[in-house]
Amino acid sequence: MTAKILDGNALAQKLRAGFKTRAEALAAQGARPGLAVVLVGENPASQVYVRNKVNACAQAGFHSEKICYPPDVSPQAVLDKIAELNADPAIHGILVQLPLPKHFDADAVLEAIAPEKDVDGFHAENVGALMQGQPRFIPCTPYGVMKFFEDAGIDLRGREAVVIGRSNIVGKPMAMLLLHAGATVTVCHSQTRDLLFHTRRADVLVAAIGRPRFVTAEMVKPGAVVIDVGINRLPGGKLCGDVDFEAVKEVASAITPVPGGVGPMTITMLLANTLEAAERTLGKM
Ligand code: NAD
Repeated sequence: MTAKILDGNALAQKLRAGFKTRAEALAAQGARPGLAVVLVGENPASQVYVRNKVNACAQAGFHSEKICYPPDVSPQAVLDKIAELNADPAIHGILVQLPLPKHFDADAVLEAIAPEKDVDGFHAENVGALMQGQPRFIPCTPYGVMKFFEDAGIDLRGREAVVIGRSNIVGKPMAMLLLHAGATVTVCHSQTRDLLFHTRRADVLVAAIGRPRFVTAEMVKPGAVVIDVGINRLPGGKLCGDVDFEAVKEVASAITPVPGGVGPMTITMLLANTLEAAERTLGKM
């Protein structure tokens, strides 16, 4: 069996096609969607992610602001800026690029963002709402993954779903979304005993580990849907995922590639969340 390739670039393009029209309709009513991206430090990967987010905003007709700080900036200066952005009517979404330097309390920074502008969905209030099944903002990466299932017509009800990784950004919200969609969910992590036992019975396998080609063909149940969230840079500079794509695509029924899978969908869902935030402010006016 050769798996169907779930093309993130194509799906992202399809979804983004409607964003510009919605942005212009909002602008006509005085609420052009606006995203502020805060970057602290000089992490090269973070710089690329921030640039991509700002470019995506421009393409979709959004207003965006990029606020950059040197690595040794005081946390208070960043908190003050967030307070300013919270009060700025031109900004509907605020994103602080992670990771933050070690002298920051990242949780305190995320909690400082107004929940109604927390387009990453990391604020405790939004995490709680997601847990209750009434999300205000769904974290962008797992939100993008759910769009693959929706687009491919994959019904999750009653399926065995296994998520490898339990981070607040990917693994935990992913598990919650799969659960809400009716799957029976297992979350595996670095202390899981007998990972193979779990992955081999997964109808849907999501890998969010951060280890190149960690998921091998023998770990995958024939016919499974495999979603690769990982982004790893190989010594030569090439990107690869957490899944051994070439081998696993011969076993799975559907698979996301890296690059060109989950990555483009993450930014797309950030745009979707920002649009929704702007639309909600209009509803309140
Ligand atoms: P993280 O480091 O916070 O979490 C990694 C998880 O993997 C942990 O929960 C850990 O328990 C688990 N893990 C580590 N070793 C393991 C092992 N041997 N067996 C089982 N589980 C193990 O990482 P994260 O932020 O969740 O990101 C995961 C990957 O996804 C990274 O490669 C990251 O770059 C990528 N990522 C991609 C996107 C995207 O848009 N495509 C977005 C966010 C993260």
